[in-house]
Amino acid sequence: RERALIVGAGLAGVQTAAELRAQGWDGRVTLLGAEPHPPYDRPPLSKELLAGEPAEGAERGGAHLLDVDYAALGVELLLGRTATGLDTAGRRLDTDGGPLPYDHLVLATGAEAVRLPGTGRTPGVHVLRTLDDARALRAVLAARGSLVVIGAGWIGAEVATAAAAAGCRVTVVEAAPRPLPGALPAEVTEPMRRWYAEAGVELRLGLRVTAVGTGRVELADGTALAADAVLAGVGSRPATGWLAGSGIALGADGSVRADERLRASAPGVYAVGDCASYPSARYGVRLLIHHWDNALGGPRTVAAGIRGERAVHDPVPYFWSEQFGRYVQFLGRRGPADRLVWRGDPEAPEAEGPGWTACWLGPGGELTALLAVDRPRDLAQGRRLAERGTPLDEARVADPAVPLRAA
Ligand code: FAD
Repeated sequence: RERALIVGAGLAGVQTAAELRAQGWDGRVTLLGAEPHPPYDRPPLSKELLAGEPAEGAERGGAHLLDVDYAALGVELLLGRTATGLDTAGRRLDTDGGPLPYDHLVLATGAEAVRLPGTGRTPGVHVLRTLDDARALRAVLAARGSLVVIGAGWIGAEVATAAAAAGCRVTVVEAAPRPLPGALPAEVTEPMRRWYAEAGVELRLGLRVTAVGTGRVELADGTALAADAVLAGVGSRPATGWLAGSGIALGADGSVRADERLRASAPGVYAVGDCASYPSARYGVRLLIHHWDNALGGPRTVAAGIRGERAVHDPVPYFWSEQFGRYVQFLGRRGPADRLVWRGDPEAPEAEGPGWTACWLGPGGELTALLAVDRPRDLAQGRRLAERGTPLDEARVADPAVPLRAA
């Protein structure tokens, strides 16, 4: 029997194993993961899990666990085992527990949190990527200590939400003049500044961090912040260092450079999820996406490839975040000349209506991107419209009382 060897037991790896079986592949499937824990999902780590172990899913050991019966699927799970190198000519993966041969190899090693220089071992300076990271940070929240969060990105905002709710004094420091600088344009992040204030979180913008030590963050304006703990929420990078010298083509961003069928640069090797970039014909650029939906969807393409079928991965990107009591969802990709159309007023008092949505329309009136705050229906409707690229009527888009639909 042929063997599919999957490296990385996160969402993309687990989903690849499940997809192979769902698509009827009856070869041998081995799933290898460096972490000792049963495979789990990451979004709860900065949400429910920080607030305390949730009751939901408790019978399975927690709502964060990926709900897959590996034995029933005939998937061999090797946990606490790390891939260390790869011989593509000999089709052999090297691991800290010895070599493993493969016919098909799937690289699904995800990403690692970026640490601030020199803080790798500094006590009290946290990152949030793994279950162990979340448990360490939860202890800080449980003690109601003070917390400085570096970076007002998605993770920073979610941790600030949980920490403030737990009764911690929270300061968020961001080098850019606004929250979510890498992800969203200024017009739509402006209203978000208020969210921090309302939650009792101090947001300090336009300030670069110059040094971080235990209980101390120094800022470019010469001031220093004291705190019981520090969280660096400054991004993530593909976990591909172990592939150096293997001949697998990597990008400057550290991603495995896959093709549109998610094949890496050696025969029989695929890459999927947070560790892989792929060329998008839809957008005419290579994309490296660090979001859950991409790690969920990519495995369909990989499994089809292993089965000898031709499938292409090129979805409209989507992700969500839960911050300051709001459900924030983003879809698509804005072009520089796209028109922004508001559905609802972000400055309106909460009582006036359920949330607001920002839509971006391309030159032909087609929906290119959408940000929905507490309007999940807009997201669901917008998703289909963005996939099809049909033109919309701008006046209708601007009326939050009517559903989003084609002109
Ligand atoms: P990962 O989940 O990183 O899994 C990769 C696995 O590979 C890891 O378990 C790792 O230990 C293992 N591994 C790495 N190197 C090796 C090796 N050499 N050998 C063996 N195993 C290895 N996305 C959203 O859209 N919405 C959200 O609300 C959201 N919240 C998030 C909250 C947090 C705290 C984090 C960290 C991420 C969040 N994301 C969210 C992003 C989403 O979780 C990721 O996109 C998704 O987990 C990617 O899945 P993956 O399988 O590619 O990588």
